[in-house]
Amino acid sequence: MTDYGRIEATLAGYDYALGDCFRCIRTEVQVAHIGDITSPDAVTPLFACRWCIEALVVMHDRAHEPLGRMYVDTPREHPY
Ligand SMILES: [Zn+2]
Repeated sequence: MTDYGRIEATLAGYDYALGDCFRCIRTEVQVAHIGDITSPDAVTPLFACRWCIEALVVMHDRAHEPLGRMYVDTPREHPY
């Protein structure tokens, strides 16, 4: 289950500045440095807007959800 409170806390932890988002290609929006593409010869920083960071964090969160389903409260007696 996605924990939106934790996602909001994660989003608030980034430092935002005006720039271009690598994901949605919008320019001159609030972006934060979210990582790098690194090769033996170079490092390219990746900046994403808040909306795209939120989408990536939700994707990350869902990718690491437990495989078991949440416990569902059921009646103690069988209905039949
Ligand atoms: Zn974006």
